Amino acid sequence: MAYVYVYAPFSGTIWGKSTYCNGSAHTVVRNLEGGSPMDIGNVSENTSIRFMASSLVKSIRTRRAPVCATQTGDWNQGVIVDMFAQYNQQCYIGSVAYGHVKNWVANGNHNTRTLTLGKLPADCNCGCSDGIHVHTQAKHGTITGLAQCAGSRVYSGSTWIYRYQWNSGWC
Ligand SMILES: [Zn+2]
Repeated sequence: MAYVYVYAPFSGTIWGKSTYCNGSAHTVVRNLEGGSPMDIGNVSENTSIRFMASSLVKSIRTRRAPVCATQTGDWNQGVIVDMFAQYNQQCYIGSVAYGHVKNWVANGNHNTRTLTLGKLPADCNCGCSDGIHVHTQAKHGTITGLAQCAGSRVYSGSTWIYRYQWNSGWC
């Protein structure tokens, strides 16, 4: 058994995981697939959102998805990244999704494990927002061990936020 890790898409602070800091349940966005929702904030508008995964990921597929039904524009834009253990989108591992994205990447296939997906939009001051942040979800992955909604600091490309089990025999 091996693990695949997805790292923080920028340096910021965990605002909520399966619950928000006030203890209420964190919304799972159906259109983004999977679960294990997380918000990462304390970050500036126009910060790049970077998909970054560990070296077992050899290729990815990017797909756009809506996020927040009460909004149009950037706050309703999400990008799902499907991860594969072989080049050219062979051997599916799992997916990670990022919500509230402007200048989002086109749908496409890439033989890489790092890719800029877009940028953070300005705060919408709407029901989808407690301020500028990215919403993430994982399909087949789980949130790693940072304390639940502890205001944990995460660092771009070095703190992992989701972990996926992988066995090469599954391919
Ligand atoms: Zn969220």
